[in-house]
Amino acid sequence: MDANQGSAPSLQVLMLEDIETDADLAQHELERGGLDVTVHRVETRPDFERALESFAPDLILCDFSLPGAFDGLAAIDLTKELSPGTPLIVLAGMVGEDRLVEAMRRGAADCVSKARLGRLVPAVKRALLEAARRRIDLQKHTGFSALDDQLRDAYADERFILHYQPRLSLETGEVCGLEALMRWSHPELGLLLADEFIPALEDSGLICEVGTWALTRAAADAGSWLSKGYSVPSVGVNVSAVQLRHDDFVEVVASAIAGRSSGVNIDLELTESVVMADIEGNARKLEALRAQGIKIALDDFGTGYSSLSYPAHLPADTLKINRAFVASMTTSPTQATIVKTIISLARCLNLRAVAEGVETYDEAKLLRDLLCDEGQGYLYSRPVPAEQVGGMLERLDAYRH
Ligand code: C2E
Ligand code: CA
Repeated sequence: MDANQGSAPSLQVLMLEDIETDADLAQHELERGGLDVTVHRVETRPDFERALESFAPDLILCDFSLPGAFDGLAAIDLTKELSPGTPLIVLAGMVGEDRLVEAMRRGAADCVSKARLGRLVPAVKRALLEAARRRIDLQKHTGFSALDDQLRDAYADERFILHYQPRLSLETGEVCGLEALMRWSHPELGLLLADEFIPALEDSGLICEVGTWALTRAAADAGSWLSKGYSVPSVGVNVSAVQLRHDDFVEVVASAIAGRSSGVNIDLELTESVVMADIEGNARKLEALRAQGIKIALDDFGTGYSSLSYPAHLPADTLKINRAFVASMTTSPTQATIVKTIISLARCLNLRAVAEGVETYDEAKLLRDLLCDEGQGYLYSRPVPAEQVGGMLERLDAYRH
């Protein structure tokens, strides 16, 4: 038996903070939360850099605004460069405030449990930090209160658009479906990715209207591809928690796609956190949708607090494996084992396994060897505007074998 079993590992926390007593307070609050931690305080860029390189912290806490040029934002940039896998919490406010104490404790508890599991946490990808950075730019650019107005104007001016990315059978190379991914064509900032504005749409509540529009738009686009003779077995549309929470969600979805042409199939993609909030109520809603021929994909599997039994309790058709696992599986046997386990789980539960973020031939080959059903990612195509889908489908014919 493992001698350390049951004893929490000590967590090394790096804290960027100019006030010494705040670091002491953070240490105290984390210990009061039952965690065994050591908080190392640094104040300057060189010290922060040295600490990242010398002791590989489990968690970084950053004061958002420090007096000098090196603050929370600069620390995000540096972490992104030097230690992209390290979780980082930016603290804006007083360290003793309840919500910050809660955020610190939750972040630290997360790190402890992941360390115990052998660090299942997928490395924070450069692109994610980039997206976080651009989101902050967006907020700075617009101001928090003006953002809601901008979102409303964008919706009214039809500046939200859908791009489409294909999923391919790893066995035959055939296109099994497309995923609709939302973009905001911003007049000054250019084309914004979903990660950069979906949270703001959710906060404003506007996601319900925009999400309903996305369903109708995707169904109409699919109809037009079919009428031009392209084979598009289904189109997946992402659904957020705010939408699913509504009592009339099933009716809203059904009526949004009611006018679709025959042969158009719409799938819904939901993440684990979305579904877990009210697993029984949501299972009923998803079952009602499936009864109408709508397939359900469990998105980003493996990222949240996945319990292996969670997909078993839900009416679903597909399990989408988060791209962070896919990205690291060819170099890390542990990650490859995780992917293999998720694929086996999908098979046991009669779900199709879809790997997200397939970027290389090696990844595609390994996934095929592991009997993963489908792959989606830049290897086959980046998400493209609706008018380029026909050309993309023709090009992908080359992958059929
Ligand atoms: P997701 O459902 O996990 O979508 C996949 C994300 O991975 C997309 O980012 C896609 O552009 C990106 N991606 C695809 N292939 C690759 C690859 O090979 N490498 C890498 N590095 N990335 C790849 P995107 O478009 O920024 O979307 C982010 C998330 O925003 C989506 O994650 C989805 O959860 C959400 N989202 C997108 N569209 C909608 C929408 O219409 N409604 C709602 N509620 N959420 C949406
Ligand atoms: Ca998705």
